[in-house]
Amino acid sequence: MLVWSKSFSDSGMKTILDTLNGGTQWLEKRGVSDARRNMQLLLCHRLDCTKIQLYTRFDEPLTEEMLVPLRDDLKRRGEGEPLQHILGTVEFYRRDFKSDSRALIPRPETEELVEMLVKDKELKPTRILDVGCGSGVIGLSLAAEYGEDAEITCVDISEDALALAKENASLLGIKNVTFLQSNLLSNVEGGFDLIVANLPYVPEVDRSTLARELAYDPDLALYSGKDGLDLIRIFIQQLPNHLNNNATVALEIGIHQHTEVEQLLAHAGFSGIRTENDLSGIARFPFATYSA
Ligand code: GLN
Repeated sequence: MLVWSKSFSDSGMKTILDTLNGGTQWLEKRGVSDARRNMQLLLCHRLDCTKIQLYTRFDEPLTEEMLVPLRDDLKRRGEGEPLQHILGTVEFYRRDFKSDSRALIPRPETEELVEMLVKDKELKPTRILDVGCGSGVIGLSLAAEYGEDAEITCVDISEDALALAKENASLLGIKNVTFLQSNLLSNVEGGFDLIVANLPYVPEVDRSTLARELAYDPDLALYSGKDGLDLIRIFIQQLPNHLNNNATVALEIGIHQHTEVEQLLAHAGFSGIRTENDLSGIARFPFATYSA
């Protein structure tokens, strides 16, 4: 029996606040970082309320019926299953996306990439390609932000990921998007004004050192050879055939990869090469332009 649930059921009715405190401690003991926020979100999910509403309901008692599914959620989280899979959703650039084991869990730094693109007033792309779209967060956010004049194509090698991205498009009511199964650019036709890609970039050798939550992301979405750059090398070589004049390419990469990626872009004929830092100061987002 779980320690938290035992003390809970032994001592009669508990309030939402008691549950929040007890669940937080329980998660902390199991090495979950940011345990209180995790517990808040699990409670909101089961009580179908916002975080603000949760605060106003602190004194409300929880019935055993409400606690049963919550204990199950806690157990899963305590064993390392990511919060996003338990909730089934993730907020990305102010929209809610479905998230499950079919694709990489969207990461907060990837929102920074979307923000950089959307805020760049010089950039007015019409034909946009998201390569390795996963759950669709980048392509669909851009489709929503750029509006109906932009046409977005989302490609992924994984049919599972594409199915999830399509579900997200229909949940969000996004129409200016098409989906294509493709190993990088192999099935892609035509030229684009903007190509964006958050490809797998984690070095195989890092596998054993990663947080246990990463075991729930598909391997296909994370790893890319010994130094993490296998796919990015092929992708950059393929790019020039698919870029309109003055097109932009924007990537997400891992720590210590930017020097090599910048060299690859230079060899492929790109100009204006620069890598923007993420909020933690890691050189994360290479940008480059291409003149045909
Ligand atoms: N940023 C992810 C991580 O390190 C990796 C995502 C990717 O490979 N594109 O957890």
